[in-house]
Amino acid sequence: METASILNESTSQGLFEKAKNYFPGGVNSPVRAFKSVSGTPLFIKKGDGCRIWDEDDNEFIDYCCSWGPLILGHNNPKVYNKIVSTLQNGASFGAPTRLENELAELILSKNPFIDKIRFCSSGTEAVMSALRLARGFTGKDKIIKFEGCYHGHSDSLLVKAGSGLVTFGASSSAGVPESFAKETLVLPLNDLEALKKCVLEHKDQIACAIIEPIPANNGLLLQELSFLKSLREICTENNILLFFDEVISGFRVAFSGAAEHYGITPDIVTYGKIIGGGLPVGAYGAKKEIMACVSPDGPVYQAGTLSGNPVAMAAGIAQLTECSKPGFYKELEEKTKSFVAPINEHAKEKGFDFEIVHIGSIFWLNFAGKKTIRSSEEINPDMTDFKHLHRELLNRGVYLGPSGYEVGFVSEAHSPEILAKSAQIMCDALDAIYK
Ligand SMILES: *Cc1c(COP(=O)(O)O)cnc(C)c1O
Repeated sequence: METASILNESTSQGLFEKAKNYFPGGVNSPVRAFKSVSGTPLFIKKGDGCRIWDEDDNEFIDYCCSWGPLILGHNNPKVYNKIVSTLQNGASFGAPTRLENELAELILSKNPFIDKIRFCSSGTEAVMSALRLARGFTGKDKIIKFEGCYHGHSDSLLVKAGSGLVTFGASSSAGVPESFAKETLVLPLNDLEALKKCVLEHKDQIACAIIEPIPANNGLLLQELSFLKSLREICTENNILLFFDEVISGFRVAFSGAAEHYGITPDIVTYGKIIGGGLPVGAYGAKKEIMACVSPDGPVYQAGTLSGNPVAMAAGIAQLTECSKPGFYKELEEKTKSFVAPINEHAKEKGFDFEIVHIGSIFWLNFAGKKTIRSSEEINPDMTDFKHLHRELLNRGVYLGPSGYEVGFVSEAHSPEILAKSAQIMCDALDAIYK
């Protein structure tokens, strides 16, 4: 077993001390603050392929991949060249460009679920806008959300299950009025009875049911196909729009996301992350009749100064062109299996209560590995083992996102050799924390 070295983190630590003077918690997005793992955030200087380097020149094999967008790895030459050649003509015009058409064509020509799309600048913005569209189209106010799914930080969705048996949500962030939270009905995942009861109770008041069809923001809570199919049926029967938030799963498990993977047709879909090739892009789409409600065609207002930004469109075009090639997703899945299988075998042999759950190229470290977990309340809330493992992995040159609730990603840039090496490192790190 390889022994772990102790990292020199002095430059990152100095930068973090400064950053704390500038930003709340020293960061511009909370999970980056390393609050649930040990140490302080590593400041990343550069990435190439499947590797990143921090400001102290420590090198890591990266399984965070910017939380999912980098499905081709860092600094992919095709994406890089397309960004640079586009940027030579200017960064933004606030007027239509040919590149928006190209990215839309690339997506819509292969996606049977949506007729039209609207580009914006983040996943949060896409979901917030699509939710307004769902309400505007149906003329109804309430929405169903599932506990454990994350949909960005718009007010209607920073809502958790209320206390007791009521389905009315309670805000999960200060600053969200309870009156907003009341419009969000929060249900447990994978629970058909709760869904039926809620729909009956709030008949004709529910605009849409929003779900991550592959919930991957709070562990990886794979849903039973029968549940997703029933959800589709119940929505249809009750005039509720089925809203698939595919900001993670879109272009990740298949080109047209979980809808394609499961063969289930949603009414409204949101994308983000991979769609922008590493630059900020979000999008929502639906059938023609629904999209006809969006301004300037219809009454649902939504706009953006930098929406459809040419450089971001260019990055998306370059990345999705690669993703659309035959066999792309199959190969990624095979790679992921080859990484996960030896680790799970090792854990089983040693009797560790640990298992890596995966779908496509998404994986999650489950520290209560002896059962299938489909809803958030089943997750082991004690993240101490993850915290220790995270440090052991950093010391051995493997970078995971700094939270045990987050998933990891395998990219096209992770070679079979790198994956085999990473699996060995993971086994060594598990031995170290369980010794
Ligand atoms: C990441 C994510 C979002 C939010 O996207 P941002 O670009 O971070 O605003 C929304 N929904 C899902 C499912 C996500 O994974």
